[in-house]
Amino acid sequence: MSDCIFCKIVDGDIPSDKVYEDDRILCFRDLDPQAPVHVLMIPKKHISSCDDISDDDAELAGYMLSMVKKIAADLDLEKGYRVVVNNGEYGQQTVPHLHLHILGGRKMTWPPG
Ligand code: AMP
Repeated sequence: MSDCIFCKIVDGDIPSDKVYEDDRILCFRDLDPQAPVHVLMIPKKHISSCDDISDDDAELAGYMLSMVKKIAADLDLEKGYRVVVNNGEYGQQTVPHLHLHILGGRKMTWPPG
């Protein structure tokens, strides 16, 4: 998607602080961190939101979840972390390209608000 900020990060047109990349996903530090460690994991393929994950994307979505533990280990989050996916208006999704927030480095609170 030509006007998608995260697609531009994938393409290298917008810089990012990358922590992991392979042929299917990219992880980079959030510009506005909400915890001592806050990274975003995105699929390189443009998928707008959770609502837009098709049956054909199921393997990719599963791969993303399966990679969370590796990213968490790389970032020394052995005490735990939180994975968040905001979806749509009420979910406070601001960037319409699917992303997992991985937050850690402090004890989280609940409910999230
Ligand atoms: P959400 O509100 O769930 O859609 O999350 C979007 C996240 O993307 C927010 O936490 C933003 O701080 C983050 N963000 C937006 N633009 C960038 C960027 N260029 N580099 C890194 N993080 C970004």
